[in-house]
Amino acid sequence: MTQTDLQATEQVDHKTDLLGMDMAGLAEFFTQIGEKPFRAAQVMKWIHQFGVSDFDEMTNLSKALREKLKQKAVIRTPKIVSEQRSEDGTIKWLLEVDNHNSVETVFIPEKTRGTLCISSQVGCALECSFCSTGQQGFNRNLENWEIIAQMWVANKALGCKPKEERVISNVVFMGMGEPLLNVTHTFPAARILMDDNAYGLSKRRVTISTAGVVPAIDKIKSSVDVSLAISLHAPNNALRDELVPINQKYPLEVLMPALHRFVEGGHSKKHVTVEYVMLDQVNDRPEHARQLIELLGDLPCKVNLIPFNPFPNAPYKRSSNNAVHRFQDALMKAGVNCTVRRTRGDDIDAACGQLAGKVKDRTKRTLQTVNLDRLHG
Ligand code: SAH
Repeated sequence: MTQTDLQATEQVDHKTDLLGMDMAGLAEFFTQIGEKPFRAAQVMKWIHQFGVSDFDEMTNLSKALREKLKQKAVIRTPKIVSEQRSEDGTIKWLLEVDNHNSVETVFIPEKTRGTLCISSQVGCALECSFCSTGQQGFNRNLENWEIIAQMWVANKALGCKPKEERVISNVVFMGMGEPLLNVTHTFPAARILMDDNAYGLSKRRVTISTAGVVPAIDKIKSSVDVSLAISLHAPNNALRDELVPINQKYPLEVLMPALHRFVEGGHSKKHVTVEYVMLDQVNDRPEHARQLIELLGDLPCKVNLIPFNPFPNAPYKRSSNNAVHRFQDALMKAGVNCTVRRTRGDDIDAACGQLAGKVKDRTKRTLQTVNLDRLHG
């Protein structure tokens, strides 16, 4: 745990909150209260593998230690405001993180895997023009415990199965917010997802999705070895400036080398997932496919075409099936691996870009006022 992580650790009624602590943080906590660091693994298993939030249920700890923990620590969990189930099996939870704000988390079951889509911020500051979260404005970053709590709640609701019968096999940071504008809290949460004493997910099964915060892309490899998805959505700067305004700060000639740096030196199968939302007549024409092929060049990647999910007053329409398949064919013919994402959970507004949560006291920030520069520090 770094100094910043430690400072960010929440104190509740002068008690230390253990839910959001990664292994290093928990070991340090036990040392600080005069206990052996190996207790960290035991407590981590109880919290994350068995879904326990009451120290009295941690039966392999002595009664004295349980009492001590009750005095000094707490396992704070969010209130579940609602749980909605889609006809296709998708489940969406609305979790209250404070008196004014709630965030959404979505579980998407598929034949061979179960994906949990988690949020990293209350609202989002990036204002991508096709995303409903962006229209909500930004309130604040989620803390470690609020991020990992989404996994904790979903895992518990799905039965806390042992590793071999795992229901949630993949986690993607594709809910509300920009995870790479909140690395102080998303990185420790990702470490908990990957810790064998917690959820034990491999690096291929934990994906951070970003609109392109270049300095933070460069921090991933040395901090937490997760997979990366880039929300590209446009093959040239003029269009991307419009759709994904952070492109004005980190344009394609800065972003693309960062993606190459991320892949380089990784294990042989390392690649980047390129997300591309299909907007009718805006970015779905043959010339866009040609530009995209050229832009990607030899980058090891897989392109995922996302049918646009509409929301009230959205200024775009979903591309026709013909346009999507024409685009996919063009990429495949050029040797670029390309899949089309199936839209799930749209009857409960749980599809990509539809997550709204409840964002109160929002400060509508513009790119000019978001202090991206602190990432350079
Ligand atoms: N800020 C991060 C993660 C959140 S968005 C990012 O930009 O990657 C997760 C994915 O959903 C992104 O690829 C985003 O571009 C996409 N998305 C947003 N709004 C959408 C919409 N209305 N329809 C389809 N995909 C959308």
